[in-house]
Formats: sequence, structure tokens, C-alpha cells
Amino acid sequence: MRRLVIVGAGPVGLTAALAAHHRGLDVSVVEADPRARVRPGSRAIFVHRESLRLLDRISPGLGLELADLGLVWGAKRTLWAGREVYERVYGPTRGPFPPFSSLPQSLLEERLRRACDRAGVRVHWGVRVTGAVSGPDGAAVRTGDGRIEGTHVIAADGARSVVRDSVGIALAGSSSGTDFVVVDVHDAQRPLKAERVLHYRHPAVDGRNVLLVPFRGGWRIDLQCAGERESAAFAADPDAWVADVLPGHRVAWVSRYRFHQRVAERFADGHGRVLLAGDAAHLFPPFGARGMNSGVADAVAAVDAVVEGGVQEYATRRRAAAVANCAAAGRACAHLLARRWPERVRQRAAALVAPVWEPAGRWLDTAAFGPRVHRVRY
Ligand SMILES: Cc1cc2nc3c(=O)[nH]c(=O)nc-3n(C[C@H](O)[C@H](O)[C@H](O)COP(=O)(O)OP(=O)(O)OC[C@H]3O[C@@H](n4cnc5c(N)ncnc54)[C@H](O)[C@@H]3O)c2cc1C
Repeated sequence: MRRLVIVGAGPVGLTAALAAHHRGLDVSVVEADPRARVRPGSRAIFVHRESLRLLDRISPGLGLELADLGLVWGAKRTLWAGREVYERVYGPTRGPFPPFSSLPQSLLEERLRRACDRAGVRVHWGVRVTGAVSGPDGAAVRTGDGRIEGTHVIAADGARSVVRDSVGIALAGSSSGTDFVVVDVHDAQRPLKAERVLHYRHPAVDGRNVLLVPFRGGWRIDLQCAGERESAAFAADPDAWVADVLPGHRVAWVSRYRFHQRVAERFADGHGRVLLAGDAAHLFPPFGARGMNSGVADAVAAVDAVVEGGVQEYATRRRAAAVANCAAAGRACAHLLARRWPERVRQRAAALVAPVWEPAGRWLDTAAFGPRVHRVRY
């Protein structure tokens, strides 16, 4: 029987565990943190319909539960220097799954954990993996007091993956020189209408770009800053500007976030026994919500590959998806940063004609999220 060891109980590791249980594998998860940990902040709030469907397939009812828990905003709008240049109001959702569900990552993880408990998945909490080895017949992870062996290992241990490093796979790419300040606020006593709002050149923050995204229980604010010193100043005193951007809301969490565009050189080791998934395999800027969503798709595909004997195909296919997602998120990031003058001129021209030519406003709205990636699953 195939025995799978999963390193990391983040959203990707827990998804892999549910998929493995669904496919009848003997599975155990090894997680460095204790079970009672509190993971701060909203982080990945946008769960795509495709992820909801996948989760529902491997754990019947879970996708629908997450759809019910989350929020679907009724409209999105884009403003330029405080003036609206684009609006789209959504109609009612068709079918059992909404186009997305917006909820804090901690809530998603809690529901994944519960589903794992119900399925009887074995999780070793508070056990740090220090390395991994593989051979033609299997793989093992080293922990402080021994080894855990399996026929395969899935590395879902995040951006600083020890497993990836110990099998000698590099995470190649670059990081943006621009910092973003990410702030969560709790819902005001009288909650605002749930709409996603993108501000180019918000007047209340000296013309910086601001993205406002509602999720269940609050709002997420992404403020684009020119560099480290600037983002440090905004992060140090969020109350000084958040009230001007989203009046009446209480700051719940502040973080600074530098965007990365990195993809692992290979998604599996040479023996086809260690498979990388999620942030261990790729890091993207968050525009288009590709990070966690593509990690969910990696997790399910990795387990299918272990069961069906298609590890090298997994590595090729999911790496191609990651490269496409990375490029799309990178384009969105470059659009928002608009470092070169032709990009700034194009944006300004679009804002100027948007009131009389709708495609210009639509372009300003969608460019910031990157092109849709066809032919590959997130
Ligand atoms: C501020 C912030 C904002 C973000 N916003 C977005 C967003 O808007 N949209 C989006 O899609 N994504 C966003 N992300 C990224 C998103 O959170 C990640 O893509 C997602 O968490 C990846 O899940 P994962 O399971 O691959 O890795 P992780 O969530 O990092 O989980 C890895 C797990 O492995 C465990 N682990 C690590 N090392 C070891 C070890 N040696 N032994 C055992 N266990 C180990 C960790 O404790 C952790 O539980 C954001 C992240 C941050 C920090």
C-alpha cells in the first residue's frame, strides 16, 4: 500500500491530506506548530469556484460549507483620484457554487482541520521536520527524534521549505522592490455594502494605490508603497490613514508584504518520491488570488499522481501552471506599480476616456488582476 507523508498543515497540506484519504492512501501529516496555534491575519481570502469544487470532490460537502461561510460581493468598482471610472454589478449566482467565496484563511484552515478530524487523518502537531531523503523505493523525513517513512512525501511546508532545500531543488525568480502594507479591519457597526474597490491614486493617502476587499467579518486593505521606509511608516501608524480610506472601521491586523515571483526549478525530486506543492513550489504576487488556489490544485493533483503513478507528469503539468500563473500575477503587479512612463501615460489616458468609453475603465479594473490563464488549472 502507498504510504504518504505530508509536511505542513497549512491549507495545501490539509487539502493533500483530505485528497489522500479520499483516494484510500495511508496518510500522515507532520506540522511544526502546535494544534492550538493562532494564525494571524486574513492572508489568502479569495477562494475560487474551482477550488470550492475540488474541495467538495475530496471531502463531500466541504466546498458548499465554505461557499456558505464566505462572502460574495455584489459589485466591483474602480476609482481614479477619487473619481469612479468603472463599475460592474453582478447578477445572482447560478449553480451550487458561487464564483468565489471570500473568507479569512484562518477560517478556511479551521474547516479543513475539522474535515481531517472527521476523516480520521493522523496529524503530528508540534513536530518539526529537519530534512528529507529519497531513493528509488521511497522517501522519509527526519524529525528531532527519528524518521517518518513513506512511499512518497509531499512538501507543503511553505515558502521556506526545508524539504525542498534538502532534496536540492532551487526556488528561482525575483522579488518586487515595492512594499505593500496589508491591513485587516473589523466590520463597522453598520457594515458597508460588500464591494471590491480599487483606487488608483487615492487622494487620502497622497495618491497611492489602494485595494479594498471585503471578506466575512471585515475588510482587507492593500496599500502600495514606494519602498521599505515608506511602508514601515504606514504600518507603524495605521490609524492615521485607515480612517480616511475606510471610515468607522477598527484595525485588527497590520503586516508588510513584499511580493515574490518565484517557481521551483522542479516540482519533484529525481526519484519521483518527493513532490512539491503550494508555497513550497511557487510564490506569486496576490493579484488574481493565484497562490493558495493553485496550491489547492497542486495538492489534489499530487495525490492523484501518487495513486496513478504519474509523478513526472505532475511535475511538468503543475510547473507549467505555476509559470503561467506567475507571469499573469507579475503582469498585474507591473501594471499596478507602473514604473515606466509609457505605462503611466496609458493608465492616465484610460482614466481620462473611461467616462465615455467603457472598455478603458474595464481595462483599468481588470489589468490589476492579470490576464485569465486559459488551458491551465489554477
Ligand atoms: C500577509 C499575507 C497576505 C497574503 N495574501 C494572500 C492573498 O491575498 N491571496 C493569496 O492567494 N495568497 C495570499 N497569501 C499567501 C497565502 O497565505 C499562501 O499562498 C498560503 O498560505 C500557502 O499555503 P501553504 O499551505 O502552501 O503554505 P503555508 O500556509 O505557509 O503552510 C505551511 C505549513 O508548513 C508548516 N511548516 C513549515 N516548515 C515546517 C517544517 N520544517 N516541519 C513541519 N512543518 C513545517 C508551517 O508551520 C505551516 O503550517 C498571503 C500571505 C501573507 C503572509
